[in-house]
Amino acid sequence: MKKTLLIFIFLSFIVTANNLPELGDYSSSKISESDEIFIGRQILFQVNQSDSIIRDIEISDYLDSLGKRLINASTDPAKKIEFFIVSDPSINAFAMLGGVIGVHSGLFLASNTESELASVISHEIAHINQKHISRFLLQQERASYQSTFIMAVALLLARSNPQLASTAMAGASAGSVQGALDFTRENEKEADRVGIQTLNNAGFDVRGARDFFTTLKQANQFSGGAAPAFLQTHPITSNRINDIEDRLKDFPYKQRVDNQTFHYVKGKLKALLDNKEDTKNILEKNIKNKIYINEGGERFALAYIYLIDNEFIKSYEQMQWLFDNEQSNPMLSQLYINYLIKINKVTEAKKIYEQNLNFFPSNRSFIYGLADLYLETQDSEKAIKLLKENEQKFSQDPILYKLFAKGYANQGKKLLQYENLAEAAYYNFNLQEAIIRMDLAIKANDGDFYQKSRVESRLKQFQKEQQIHTNDN
Ligand SMILES: [Zn+2]
Repeated sequence: MKKTLLIFIFLSFIVTANNLPELGDYSSSKISESDEIFIGRQILFQVNQSDSIIRDIEISDYLDSLGKRLINASTDPAKKIEFFIVSDPSINAFAMLGGVIGVHSGLFLASNTESELASVISHEIAHINQKHISRFLLQQERASYQSTFIMAVALLLARSNPQLASTAMAGASAGSVQGALDFTRENEKEADRVGIQTLNNAGFDVRGARDFFTTLKQANQFSGGAAPAFLQTHPITSNRINDIEDRLKDFPYKQRVDNQTFHYVKGKLKALLDNKEDTKNILEKNIKNKIYINEGGERFALAYIYLIDNEFIKSYEQMQWLFDNEQSNPMLSQLYINYLIKINKVTEAKKIYEQNLNFFPSNRSFIYGLADLYLETQDSEKAIKLLKENEQKFSQDPILYKLFAKGYANQGKKLLQYENLAEAAYYNFNLQEAIIRMDLAIKANDGDFYQKSRVESRLKQFQKEQQIHTNDN
């Protein structure tokens, strides 16, 4: 499963790259900001096509907010970095050209504390802010979109899964990829130093960096080699550990209580694992024998699995424990709402969504969940009203536009339906599909003058954007 995503991305990149022109002037000392953004969009487009990606609103929003907090505390708080989660049990995270960071679900599950997880992410943010990847690519002789793309992805492939490095080397020159790995090894020290500073600035426990190495070592020893990918690109030499230990002395001891959402996110990821029966048995046993780092997280996972398996009474028992013993949390409310929907208490579910939105007006899970529930119960008008109220906040979110499109489709409004499908494709980095849909919006011919001119000017904008990167450079 994990190999499919990477090979898929790699092969699509070779195809994409072959259709792209040479970069005109590459004598400048850095890859331009707009080229980097373009490459980042291409990477995300390929990533979005893959089914190895975890597209869960709550998990994504948690990672985004953790990432944002670290970026704000980093050397470049204005940097725009996109995160995505790969469904992959191996412990890994990797930074890519264009400000993109991929995190394996295995990294979440292996992290015992939020500070451990944050230490890896701040390390990857440091690789981006210190321009380790673009600096490497600039050392290459042939600087064209083709070679930049292929190298960027070969590098991703090699860093993400060193066993696949040979595949990557077939597309890029073998020496360069090996060089990239050596080059980044040199930069590991810098990423450690900068990352630890960021970790501290963001209010996390800097000892998370050292604890994560211990976690990695244990995972490597006990779980049949779940760690090698990260270990190979981030070798734990005694030199490196000493270096980190030295740095930690500069920071005062900081006792930190994890945000409980971290443990619920881990719980949800556990519930989404492939081998549900095994996971369920392990969780039941752990709770019975009190073997856990965080009881709430384990019970949350179990409640989720029971719900997926339609074991409603057992699921509710776990929720009851969570409501009695833990502080209120949006993920708990969402779990309970999911339960209500599954047992057909839709009116009650809507009521709780509405109550929760008063307390968490920007919670995407609540907004989209309620909009979807309105749509499912033939109340498109209410759904569209709710989405409109939140349009400004999520104006670059494809899910928002997909829900709008569904609502307008229910109402038979073709122009608006296609316009929103076009926006969804655009924010999914699929410019070609965005153009096709926007064209359909114009041809639908059922809008007023204002709507028609809006879709026409948006189509022109899309076409112009496409030309920038396919014509002259
Ligand atoms: Zn690194």
